Amino acid sequence: MIVEQIWTANSGRNFNYLIACEHTGEALAIDPLDHEKCLAAAKAKGWAIRQILNTHEHRDHTGGNAQMVAATGAKLLAHAKAKDKIEGIDRGLAAGDVITVGKTVELLCLDTPGHTMSHICVKAQGDRPALFCGDTLFNAGAGNCHHGGHPNELYNSFAAQLARLPDETLIYPGHDYIARNLSFTLDREPDNAAATALLPKVEKQDTAKALVTTLRQEKEINTFFRLSSPSVIARLREAFPDLPDRPDEKTVFLKLRELRNKW
Ligand SMILES: [Zn+2]
Ligand SMILES: [Zn+2]
Repeated sequence: MIVEQIWTANSGRNFNYLIACEHTGEALAIDPLDHEKCLAAAKAKGWAIRQILNTHEHRDHTGGNAQMVAATGAKLLAHAKAKDKIEGIDRGLAAGDVITVGKTVELLCLDTPGHTMSHICVKAQGDRPALFCGDTLFNAGAGNCHHGGHPNELYNSFAAQLARLPDETLIYPGHDYIARNLSFTLDREPDNAAATALLPKVEKQDTAKALVTTLRQEKEINTFFRLSSPSVIARLREAFPDLPDRPDEKTVFLKLRELRNKW
């Protein structure tokens, strides 16, 4: 499997992706908002885009579909429940479905509601697992729930699915928000050494060659995976004095999400 992360350089800081089979040159485009950049990248590599996958229905993820279909004839895949929200879906996906790209790539569909209620993530199988997580999981952060989502479901998706993936899983999110998210982590957990060390590096990074984190690293730098950290809980109690002595992880997640909304 070859992954091409495409930096759109737009105000939304979107990442688009191409996933290609090295044997056949067939490719799948994830959320190809910047269809021109995606098409140019495929052309440069000699790849044929046969499928488009939308992680969810927001316009900054679906806005390139029509032009991409017109240029390539690719089939459109998205959550089966998004059929009234995304035009022209050819294949509706559910948890456990497998998407094949060429002869060598298999992507497993995860149903991960929270940012919206029809959001999927896909996990590339194979020697090195990789997760394409749209607006559910960001580097050092979590998606918001303002536009059709629910924080309870977002917590469930994190706890029951994402946190249980292999630690070496590579994380490919839908946006570059890492610097701002690390600042939030440090606001919540000022003694987080890994986040302190990483922030100056990503502030200066070339986003066209952005850092790709692993789930192991996310568990160190992403406050939404650090729900039992004594330091996170102590600091949270300053904002929520009624917080119980040993709050459960869901309570901590929901309070962090609430603070991040206003931060
Ligand atoms: Zn979104
Ligand atoms: Zn988005």
